[in-house]
Formats: sequence, structure tokens, C-alpha cells
Amino acid sequence: MSDCSSPYVSTTNACKLCKPLGACLAFRGVEGAVPFLHGSQGCATYMRRYIISHFREPMDIASSSLGEKHAVYGGEANLKQGLMNVIQKFGPRLIGVATTCLTETIGDDVPMIMRAFRREMSAGQADEGLPILVDVATPSYSGTHTEGFHTAVLALIDQMASCSGSSSGRGKINLLPGFVSPADIRYFKEVCADFGLPAVVLPDISETLDGPALEDYQKIPQGGTLVAEIKDMGCSRQTIELGRALYRHSTAGRLLQDRFQVPLSSLGTPIGLRETDAFFEVLKSLAGCEIPIKHATERGRLIDAYVDAHKYIFDKHALIYGEEDLVIGLTSFLAETGIRPVICATGGKTARFREAIEDVTRDILPDLPAIREGADFFDIAEEAEALSADLIVGHSKGYHLARRLNIPLIRVGFPIHDRFGGHRTLHVGYRGAQRLLDCMVNAVLEKKQEASSVGYGYM
Ligand code: SF4
Repeated sequence: MSDCSSPYVSTTNACKLCKPLGACLAFRGVEGAVPFLHGSQGCATYMRRYIISHFREPMDIASSSLGEKHAVYGGEANLKQGLMNVIQKFGPRLIGVATTCLTETIGDDVPMIMRAFRREMSAGQADEGLPILVDVATPSYSGTHTEGFHTAVLALIDQMASCSGSSSGRGKINLLPGFVSPADIRYFKEVCADFGLPAVVLPDISETLDGPALEDYQKIPQGGTLVAEIKDMGCSRQTIELGRALYRHSTAGRLLQDRFQVPLSSLGTPIGLRETDAFFEVLKSLAGCEIPIKHATERGRLIDAYVDAHKYIFDKHALIYGEEDLVIGLTSFLAETGIRPVICATGGKTARFREAIEDVTRDILPDLPAIREGADFFDIAEEAEALSADLIVGHSKGYHLARRLNIPLIRVGFPIHDRFGGHRTLHVGYRGAQRLLDCMVNAVLEKKQEASSVGYGYM
């Protein structure tokens, strides 16, 4: 019997994506890895289409291709057969197996099936050269693509990292960047190199999802975090884990701390001046040196740009949506430029989101923005209209909202399907803040120009 007083509201246009999609992206950031979905072909096809349209790179996602009868009898045989096919056709270094709604609902015990598969390979003496098999539970009805991403990173560390006596990992730092763009990963690697800090960045999609043109098609793209480096992450001198919304006790960084005593620095995603300053402070203390002149100059230029931009953007109202940590970082950044975030929305539900938004806006904004978790574009649209937003900052799923309200959309995050080069968007660091600031100021100027009856040519 239905309960008319129930607060349940059906989803119209969710502000999130499928959980195993995030896991596939994390696995793509590992050397020689093939992401594998234990589920139906449709799931893999949808995810490939979504990922390729953003990154404009080939993206193979293998699948156990379950059909109706497997919903009754289980998918064990298909999973084993699928793994064999991938091993024979791709020769991977690692297969990352993510579950889907179907296999979580029917209750397939994937870790048990994987153990059985390894045993069978070993009995047939075919385990020589068997790839590393990592499995992760990603039922999409209980989370978002961001959670799927973090869960896969945690699984990689849990099932692979160690610290042997002769480890080559000593002296390195682990950098767990969260779900950021290939351009962001390249920036992090450049900064660590400039500080003289050898870093293991996990995952590393800087080449696997933004590679050069090649003469011949490669079944598995070059790049990714080296398997040997992941195995040694338990021996690193420090882990830096980025993302204020990481709320689970069992993050990859915490696991490395608890199991291998690798000290952990938990920081926000370094978007904007203050969050980037915090990131650079940690690097400075680890490297034992001052900020390299190149980055100090970029910081100075950014502050200069904040001053120059203030007269154009002060007290403009912005609606921000997307992945939790992206929204938190952008909120911190926009608030320090003088833009007032009026709605901060995410499709996820975490215990840390509200607290993190409060932390980054306290002492800088007169009022806390409206905070929406588990958000739906249908609801965001109604609120945005009422709050007279001047800017929308988020991924391309917000385009229809921006068009209807006639508000500029600054495209950030994932997915960006209606523009070119979205995966090369730099969000982090002083350089990323500079680029985003320029985009936002110009969007405000363009809107003003278009709305003007005289068409200002000088602003
Ligand atoms: S939401 Fe579930 S059914 Fe849909 S694509 Fe994702 S895993 Fe498959």
C-alpha cells in the first residue's frame, strides 16, 4: 500500500552518474589494465559511450555479458569465460572487475568466483603470466560514479599494496588525487617534479585518457600508474590524499596509514588560492624547500587577477553542481574571488559535504549557500530561477538548464559532451584557478555585452 505522507520523490534528471563507471575510470589509470564489468552488455556500452564522448579516446570496457537467464542462475560461468577472453585477446597486466546493479542484486559472490578462477588456472598450470585480478563491489543503486572511483582506488591499494624489505618505494610520496582531469594529473606531476619529490600518482589517466596519435591502434593505451609502484605504495614516506568529502573511514590513504604506517595528509582538492596554498605548504615541508619560483610567480599573477576581476564579478550569484569535491573546491574558489555561490549541489550523499562547504565559506561569505545533496536538475532549476543566478558552473548536463534560464554555463568536471577538449580542462593549482577565473569573467562580460543596446566595445 502506498504511503501518501512518504517524503520519497522520484528522480527526474539525476546530478550523478553510474557507480561502476567511476570504477572503470580509476582502473583505466593503471598500467596495462582492462576495466571489466560483471553485468550486461548494455551497462558497458552506456559507459563506453559516456567516457569516449568526453575524453575522445578509445575506451574498451570488457563485460561478462549477462542475459536474462543469468539473473536466475547467476553469472559465475560468464565471468570466468569473460576473464579468459580478456586474457587471451588483450594480454593485460591487470583486470579490474567492477560489479553492476544486476550482479549485486542477484548476489554473485565475485571475490569467491575470482578465487575459484585463480585456483582453476593454477591447477591447469595456466597461472603463469596470469594478470593481477582486482575486484570491487559497485552497485549503482547505492552510490555515484565518484564513490565508484574511490572504491576502486581503495580496492587497488587493499589488494595490491605492500612493503617488502627491498622495496623501491622508500622515499616516494603517494598522491591520491581523486577524480580529476588528465590535465590536472599532468599538473600534479609537474609540481611534484619541480619540488624534486618522486611521486606515485594513483590513478594516472594523464596519458591513458589523453594520449598522442599513434600509427597503430593499441589494445591497451600506454601510461597509467605502474603496477610495481602500486605494490610498493606501502613503503612510501607520505601519502597526500585530496578531497574533503572523503567520508569513509576506509579511504585508500587511511588504509595505507593503518596497515603500513604511511603518514597521511588529507587535504581539499586544490582549487583556488587557499586550497592550493594548503597543498603547496605540504609539498614545501616534504621537500624542505621554498615554493619554486615558477609557481610563486603563478600565485602572484593569480592574486593580481583577483584584484583586476573584482569589479566585474563581485557579488555575482553562482550555481555550482557536480562531484562533491569539485563543488567544494569551486565553492572555496568562487567565494574568494567575490562571486557568491548561492546553490552548491551534488548528486551524492555524504556526511562530509555540508561540513566541508561550511569550512570553506566560513569567514568569507555572509551567508551559507543552499546545500543540496542527492540533487536532481529538476529541483535545482526551480531554485536557480528563484535565486537569480548569474553563472552556472558545472558539467554539460546542465546545458539545458543554462539555456532555459539564459545564464552562462562554465563547463568544468565530467562529463563535457557538448564542447571539445573538456578533458584538458585544468581545474587545480594557481594555474587552473587563473584559467577558470578568466573564463568566468569573460562569460559575465559577454552576457553584459549581448544584453546591451549599445554593444559595449570597451569594458
Ligand atoms: S546504473 Fe546499473 S544498470 Fe544502469 S548502467 Fe549503471 S550498473 Fe548498469
